[in-house]
Amino acid sequence: MKIFKDRKNLQREISSTKAISFVPTMGGLHKGHISLIKKSKKTKLKTLVSIFVNPKQFNEKKDFKSYPRNQKKDLKILKNLKVDYLYLPSIKDIYGFKPKKKVFLDKFSKQLCGKYRKGHFPGVLNVVNRFLDIIKPKKLFMGKKDFQQLYLVKKHIIKRKINTKIVECETIREKNGVACSSRNYRLNLRDKKVASKIYFYFKKIKQKFNYYNPNLLKKEIIKLGADKIDYIQFYNIKDFKRSKKFNKYTRIFIAYYLNKVRLIDNI
Ligand code: AMP
Repeated sequence: MKIFKDRKNLQREISSTKAISFVPTMGGLHKGHISLIKKSKKTKLKTLVSIFVNPKQFNEKKDFKSYPRNQKKDLKILKNLKVDYLYLPSIKDIYGFKPKKKVFLDKFSKQLCGKYRKGHFPGVLNVVNRFLDIIKPKKLFMGKKDFQQLYLVKKHIIKRKINTKIVECETIREKNGVACSSRNYRLNLRDKKVASKIYFYFKKIKQKFNYYNPNLLKKEIIKLGADKIDYIQFYNIKDFKRSKKFNKYTRIFIAYYLNKVRLIDNI
């Protein structure tokens, strides 16, 4: 595995390797990231993984500072997976140039996480646009765990006519149902149990009911042990419009806190 900290050196290396398959991450690697990387490795392309905790997508400094980082463990995982390239840029390397394309922010960026984490999606799109400019990957692997981010990146790529194909990957979960996330490293045993109960509660709701009452759901989730809820919303993922009734395109989007840890999921 070749490691690069400087975009120019990376570009020099990959300019001869036309086809790159790219897996962007913020590190704190877990089974979700590993599944994306394994999928990418199955393509005939060279796999490039990035680890960059992007300060611009954190609406709170404290959250940025406490975001789980474990570079030693991450390097070991990536070496074992036989990743071709690892890009570990500094903030200056990413933000010290002007990308060719302007960010396109779909209006959905103001809903759900966009409403509760001001500046989050502009920050995500800004960094993704820069990575795409530097790497120009043929394929981009992203997880449905971050469905809203995936949707907005897709819109940006289409609108700006970028020649990269997004490969959408299923959410990987722990045995207890909780979606794997770097933030789970900050949960204690009690929090993990609550997160598991919340996941199974939503699964049941989806199977048993055909309409939703937001206030009732919020009360139930607090009863199960959540400390705070940002949103519980049902969306039709075909057009990203809110829905009160279920059909096969309905997904439940949730964001809630356990202690000070903010978790998101879609079921
Ligand atoms: P992150 O490091 O959290 O920014 O995530 C990097 C990529 O991994 C994103 O495309 C995420 O959607 C994806 N990802 C994170 N958690 C999971 C998961 N549990 N299952 C599948 N993909 C995931």
